[in-house]
Amino acid sequence: MSISQIAKTIQASSTLALNQKAAMLREKGDPVIHLGGGEPKTKAPVDAILAASALLNTGEVRYTPADGLPALKKAIVGYTDAYYHRRVAQENVMASGGAKQAIMVALQTVLNPQDEVIFPAPYWVSYPDMVKLCGAVGVPVLPKDGTFQPRIEDIEARVGPRTKAVIINSPNNPSGAMYTEEFISDIVQFCEKRDLCLIMDDIYHRLVFDGKKAPSPFDYAKKPIDESKLIAVNGVSKQYAMTGFRIGWAVGNRSLIEVMGNIQGHQTSGPSAVSQMAAVGAINGIQSGVESLRVTLENNRNVMVALLNTIKGVRVANPDGTFYCFADFRVYEKSSHKLSLFLIDKVQVLTVPGIDFGVDGYLRLSYCGTIGEITEGIQRIKWALDPDSPSELNIGGRKLVRDWTSAGI
Ligand code: PMP
Repeated sequence: MSISQIAKTIQASSTLALNQKAAMLREKGDPVIHLGGGEPKTKAPVDAILAASALLNTGEVRYTPADGLPALKKAIVGYTDAYYHRRVAQENVMASGGAKQAIMVALQTVLNPQDEVIFPAPYWVSYPDMVKLCGAVGVPVLPKDGTFQPRIEDIEARVGPRTKAVIINSPNNPSGAMYTEEFISDIVQFCEKRDLCLIMDDIYHRLVFDGKKAPSPFDYAKKPIDESKLIAVNGVSKQYAMTGFRIGWAVGNRSLIEVMGNIQGHQTSGPSAVSQMAAVGAINGIQSGVESLRVTLENNRNVMVALLNTIKGVRVANPDGTFYCFADFRVYEKSSHKLSLFLIDKVQVLTVPGIDFGVDGYLRLSYCGTIGEITEGIQRIKWALDPDSPSELNIGGRKLVRDWTSAGI
């Protein structure tokens, strides 16, 4: 079968392959621990459920405007005021099928084939392929100093005549690092000066720990929103534990947003009306669920980091937010893919290889599960890797015997 040149460049997700493997093992009855997940396990807010049910109960679920229901746009205007300290108009807002679609449509709106898009590494797994889907070229930039805090000079060094956009995700999936206020201020002003589109993927901006607050990019923008190329992306998936509802949004310049709405109109005719109403309920409703999720995640982070620090030679930076740790396992194995497969095969713990995020030798470990899963998952990893581990381990009522050395991975 002949497929397009662009389709040929799109990678199969190794995360999906690992998920399938874990599902197969679970089906066989193996006691798999999933530290690869990307969604909170709490329930959606009751206000979201009530709002969605109210629409469903009418039995009249119709098309909505392709860029979102006025009620949702109004809620997003309020959200932007509350969390970004910026009063925007409904014309500055587009609701989408998840933050993912908002980013994809933004890229389709600004990119020509062969244009370049810069993003710091480690980066969210989808950015390279989203850029490729536009026929454009992704330019990952790894901080030279070995940290996961990008530096403006490293980004500046990669800007060329074809650079059109920069994508920033902070707090970051996979590192959990929140970029400094200084960096956010610098990147906003740098993109303004160089006339680059800046996509701020802020999907984790309320899931931040240790009393810190995510900086608002709008605080540093000198240009008024309708002269700016700053696009702030957010959504209900993570903060409200509503991944399955598939609602995200973009806030930006009204001419850009108008074109984005036109593109989305031809792609999907807009997000589901039921999900949009659920998002209205979540955004306008009681916010205590977000805080209790944040506190739970902060506690889970503390447990996971403390346990990881008991594994000899593993290094991990304390995440400022999100629900991921990005730990350096290079003392045990340089290929993160091999290590990830080893851990699922030997101790049935699912992790995501760092190479999927542009940095090999690291594993992404999620702490959005229970304390029990986190504790047992990291203990199994420790047992599998540490040469001083006892020779036997009990998992899920069965005895494992250690018949390997870590050097033999
Ligand atoms: N950006 C980042 C950094 C993410 O981690 C995710 C979800 N994994 C998304 C965007 C997409 O979120 P949504 O479910 O709203 O499409």
